[in-house]
Amino acid sequence: MQNRKNLHHISGILLMTIFVLINTLKAYGNPVTGIIDGADDKNVRGWAFNSSERESTLPVRVIITNQTSGQVTAELETTASKHREDLAAQGSGTGNYGFEVNVPWDTYENGTYLIEAYASGQKLSGTKVYGVGTAVPAVNLRSIGTFKTTAYCPCRQCSGKWGGRTSTGTIAAANHTISVDPRVIPYGSKLMIGGVIYTAEDCGGGVKGRHIDIFFNTHGETRFYGTRSMEVFIVQ
Ligand SMILES: [Zn+2]
Repeated sequence: MQNRKNLHHISGILLMTIFVLINTLKAYGNPVTGIIDGADDKNVRGWAFNSSERESTLPVRVIITNQTSGQVTAELETTASKHREDLAAQGSGTGNYGFEVNVPWDTYENGTYLIEAYASGQKLSGTKVYGVGTAVPAVNLRSIGTFKTTAYCPCRQCSGKWGGRTSTGTIAAANHTISVDPRVIPYGSKLMIGGVIYTAEDCGGGVKGRHIDIFFNTHGETRFYGTRSMEVFIVQ
């Protein structure tokens, strides 16, 4: 009797372990994959498919966010069903996984826009930024996660004897210069933070690890900025 009880107990644990394992595998091996691989003045393009159901067609939602205001400007719905010869040639199922949505950029106000896409709720890679009425072309972005960001200016309190000179020998400029920990972000890296593309070209005694100090012209602006937690993208 005692033995049988133990057996039940053990098989219960075994079942539970298998159940947990399956759910873990499901969570890590998400079968939905895809990317935004193009964005221009007319449309946003990409592909997405479910590797465990290659005959199915996924719904795609393209989300366009104004980086100046932080507001979602548009949510465009489509399906990943267009034939893509390149995907078929790579042996990716039928190859009918492409999507393309027209974006009415000329109806949007000037600014930089973040372009993200989701297929069946799964975020696709290849996040892009596009500028309307600005010099920002469509570029590839890769998120490196959230950083602590602060602000500094050339004043004595912020920069001491350095003034507007950076540690790499350049003259600091607003909307361009950021101070980084060069062990985390190499000098020369282009990063997009809040819709602005910066160059890592300065360092600071208080800037360590996942912290970025953003250059502004005046101390008033640095006070207004304060400390913000921001998602940072590498511009590729
Ligand atoms: Zn200052």
